[in-house]
Amino acid sequence: MTTGVEETVVIIVGAGPSGLATSACLHQLSIPYIILEREDCIASLFNKKTYNRLHLHLVKNFCQLPHLPFPASFPTYAPIAQFLEYLDDYAAHFKINPRFCNRVKFAKYEDDEEKWKVEAEVGGGGVRRYKGRFLVVATGETSDVFIPEVDGLSEFKGEVIHSTEYKSGEGYENKKVLVVGSGNSGMEIALDLSNYGAKTSIVVRSPVSFSLLLVTYIRASIFYFFYKTFLVHQILEHLKVR
Ligand SMILES: Cc1cc2nc3c(=O)[nH]c(=O)nc-3n(C[C@H](O)[C@H](O)[C@H](O)COP(=O)(O)OP(=O)(O)OC[C@H]3O[C@@H](n4cnc5c(N)ncnc54)[C@H](O)[C@@H]3O)c2cc1C
Repeated sequence: MTTGVEETVVIIVGAGPSGLATSACLHQLSIPYIILEREDCIASLFNKKTYNRLHLHLVKNFCQLPHLPFPASFPTYAPIAQFLEYLDDYAAHFKINPRFCNRVKFAKYEDDEEKWKVEAEVGGGGVRRYKGRFLVVATGETSDVFIPEVDGLSEFKGEVIHSTEYKSGEGYENKKVLVVGSGNSGMEIALDLSNYGAKTSIVVRSPVSFSLLLVTYIRASIFYFFYKTFLVHQILEHLKVR
């Protein structure tokens, strides 16, 4: 079933931290928006696809979202449960109500109308249509599972899981486990397995680079500044021009 078209100023795709932050900034400026999320919860990556021991990998002042700092009681590296609680409070505080189970499948800019036409598949079947002057794609870079082709993997008799299915090292004691990849998840999962007594190895494709804390801090500060100011100002500028 296809429903009628719902119109707004900004359409945001994805209710992860970026989509929530954008929503809050628009809310503060009273700019109407709709936020569409394919899953049934906010921050689906952190809610559904992470492991139990996860603490944020960046210090807390780089992970809090605009207009609502983390509570002072937060430790330097917030545990996942605290971060999720903060995101729930954040959504409630800024009255962010994502349209859940809306998987965006189509987006096209209509030159004649100067509007984006967006279509989303909705849970239970059917398509919902939206129209907006601006489209913000906040679908993340790591929210989709990717398993590269590995020779011999299909014949391997042991258990193979993606990091998004890993919860803890319980049950892996004394087992030989090979972790492939040394990104955020790979490194911490390898440590977790080791702590649970697994015989852990990790395979790394290219040399691991360790940044000095100061360099990381400066890079994160620059990113944070642009993140806070760029997007919403772009929208405001466009609104002013018209
Ligand atoms: C182990 C681990 C530790 C990390 N630690 C940190 C940290 O300490 N600090 C930090 O800042 N970052 C950390 N990150 C990175 C973290 O993933 C990103 O910072 C954060 O999730 C990015 O938010 P996002 O909203 O851009 O994307 P995501 O969180 O990926 O959210 C994207 C959302 O878009 C939705 N979506 C995707 N496609 C569609 C579609 N077609 N239609 C509708 N909805 C869609 C997804 O379901 C998802 O909810 C970590 C990541 C991992 C895996």
